[in-house]
Amino acid sequence: MSETTKFLLSETDLPKDWYNVSPDLPSPLPPPLHPGTKQPIGPEDLAPIFPMEIIRQEVSQDRWVPIPVEVRDIYRLWRPTPLYRAHRLEAALDLPDRVRIFYKYEGVSPSGSHKPNTAVPQAFYNKLEGVKRIATETGAGQWGSSLAMACAFFGIDLKVYMVKISYAQKPYRRALMEAYGATCIPSPSMDTNAGRTILANDPDSTGSLGIAISEAVEDAATRDDTKYALGSVLNHVLMHQTVIGQEALKQLEMAEAWPDVVIGCAGGGSNFAGLVLPFIREKMAGKDIRIIAAEPAACPTLTRGTYAYDFGDTSMLTPLVKMHTLGHSFVPAGIHAGGLRYHGMAPLVSHLLEHNLIEAQAVKQRAAFEAAITFVRSEGILPAPEPTHAIRLTIDEAIRAKEAGESKTILFGLCGHGHFDLSAYDSYLSGSLQDYEHPQEAIDAALAELPVISA
Ligand SMILES: *Cc1c(COP(=O)(O)O)cnc(C)c1O
Repeated sequence: MSETTKFLLSETDLPKDWYNVSPDLPSPLPPPLHPGTKQPIGPEDLAPIFPMEIIRQEVSQDRWVPIPVEVRDIYRLWRPTPLYRAHRLEAALDLPDRVRIFYKYEGVSPSGSHKPNTAVPQAFYNKLEGVKRIATETGAGQWGSSLAMACAFFGIDLKVYMVKISYAQKPYRRALMEAYGATCIPSPSMDTNAGRTILANDPDSTGSLGIAISEAVEDAATRDDTKYALGSVLNHVLMHQTVIGQEALKQLEMAEAWPDVVIGCAGGGSNFAGLVLPFIREKMAGKDIRIIAAEPAACPTLTRGTYAYDFGDTSMLTPLVKMHTLGHSFVPAGIHAGGLRYHGMAPLVSHLLEHNLIEAQAVKQRAAFEAAITFVRSEGILPAPEPTHAIRLTIDEAIRAKEAGESKTILFGLCGHGHFDLSAYDSYLSGSLQDYEHPQEAIDAALAELPVISA
């Protein structure tokens, strides 16, 4: 058993329910507030932009939410995903037997990341409610391409507002979205009031996720035939991703292992939560385990942001949610981990940090890519830029355990492959990749614009 490299489940092991952590939380999540009245919002406030079933799931207190048969049938195209024992990385790091590394690989999905785990159910619920068209934003393009695939499966039109810098850096993601039948334009765009306003103030804006969200929400809110879909941050998205951690628990059981540490990268928090929530359930039941979110030093939401109510977007159209935030006006440096450039963090992940159920660490991008090179040269899989942050922390933990003479089992989430991110590797390998640490003055300035809530 100890020599096994891939721990594989059969299709019959595919989870039948998503795990909803809400009823198990030590205290309830602070409610989202209306952007105008600053009072808690109700389902009717969200109905113009989301289908009813998604709104129900967003506030559900059911611990287990059944995965529809139609969704499981599509999950079967790539799920269950493999859990690897990183024998070759362990050897490259010259680790003793007592230090072991496992990784759960989501790059086997058709679009190359964990995103289809939520894109498919979201498209399905829209289809059930007769929605003809969806508007969304995308950063690096993983979400746009995953939702484009899901919309192709259910015959829904999709318009994607893609953060301009990524649109320029990742033309192949756009081509993939178009192959699936979606329309993709760079954001800020001239197609919405939000986009036009930003361009009037800053014609050279390279965009941000916050801006692209404003555009997509406005598109959906101003058209009867259109709803909006979000690929991260919200409770229902994180819940859909829990298939990852549920499978990993079973696979570690096959490996007769229990992780001392689970590490995932966190942008909006969805792949991280999807991997760790089933382990947090075990932790709350008394199991000993550390859980670490890895984030970029250029967008240090959890490690340097403030836990406060803030808007989800730049134009202040979305509800206010309580989260770790760098301020809705924050525009991050053009780092390559496009999926980690959001100003906020999932309210659920923020809440877990407040309750000390998780920890967070920031990683600089050159150190992250250095770890990725060690990984690709030993394990062969080229990681997406986002999970390289988790790989860095994994390698550091492993080496620390080796030097301290400790036994340690580490699990990390390899949430996507980097085949569309080769220009990032190109800049790293040619020595032109820069480190950014977000300046404190910029953080202070953005935080000064946080909305005032009188409790
Ligand atoms: C989108 C994406 C992320 C960031 O989003 P989360 O919601 O934090 O998971 C990270 N990694 C990959 C590969 C992504 O596609």
